[in-house]
Amino acid sequence: MECIFCDIVARKRPAHILYENARIIAFLDKYPIDDGHTLIVPKKHYERITDMPHEDVAAVFTAVSPVARSVMTATGAVAFNVAQNNGRDAMQIIPHMHVHVIPRQANKTLGWSKRTITDDAELLKVSKLVRISQAP
Ligand SMILES: [Zn+2]
Repeated sequence: MECIFCDIVARKRPAHILYENARIIAFLDKYPIDDGHTLIVPKKHYERITDMPHEDVAAVFTAVSPVARSVMTATGAVAFNVAQNNGRDAMQIIPHMHVHVIPRQANKTLGWSKRTITDDAELLKVSKLVRISQAP
């Protein structure tokens, strides 16, 4: 089965990887709502959170706090959203479970659904700023 996120895990497709451990990988969203928009993904393919054993759910959500802290520091964000969509009718685009960590800048109201196509140089710049030091 063709899966973009499985390809990133297997290094068959490039991504700006910020962190990984035995169970999860975190990388910049290619279509960010704002700079530093990061996805945390289990390395095993599951479509929905309800398909996952609790160990992998725990690993994904344990990474949320250190990823959010590091991305906020790198981007100067003052707030962030955590989101996890299950199924196309809930706006899940890639059918491989993922958690969005979306940094938010002060007084900059970007919608939830308006996405931009960023260029790779911009993603590279952001990825070099992020240092995740307290990841699990
Ligand atoms: Zn997959």
